[in-house]
Amino acid sequence: MSDAETLFERIIAGEIPSDKVYEDETTYAFRDIHPQARVHVLVVPKKRYRNVAELAAADPGLLADVIAAAREVAVLEGISESGYRVVFNTDSDAGQTVFHVHAHVLGGEQLGLFGR
Ligand code: 5GP
Repeated sequence: MSDAETLFERIIAGEIPSDKVYEDETTYAFRDIHPQARVHVLVVPKKRYRNVAELAAADPGLLADVIAAAREVAVLEGISESGYRVVFNTDSDAGQTVFHVHAHVLGGEQLGLFGR
């Protein structure tokens, strides 16, 4: 991977403003700029991996941190009881556009089905 900073590294560093929802030692969570549901929050590990496959292979403990942070976000956003979705778009066919792994936490309404 190149050393060029990704958009999300600049957001984590505070160089680009974001609407922060949650932060801990290893993760940072903020509202998606183009929400696809009433609640749409991105959870990003502070250490960069390209996608969830690379993260799972290299640092499963950090992947667990991302999932735990997604749960915290759901509690903070009041959607932990009603239900929510956690999505990792992974590479081209899934439409991944930012190559710094992130979980989408979606909820706050009845969500549509997967797929096209
Ligand atoms: P992907 O398509 O890679 O799974 O998701 C990238 C997400 O980042 C998209 O949902 C997009 O709306 C969001 N995004 C892109 N640029 C920004 C930004 O500058 N700020 C915030 N908060 N979200 C962004």
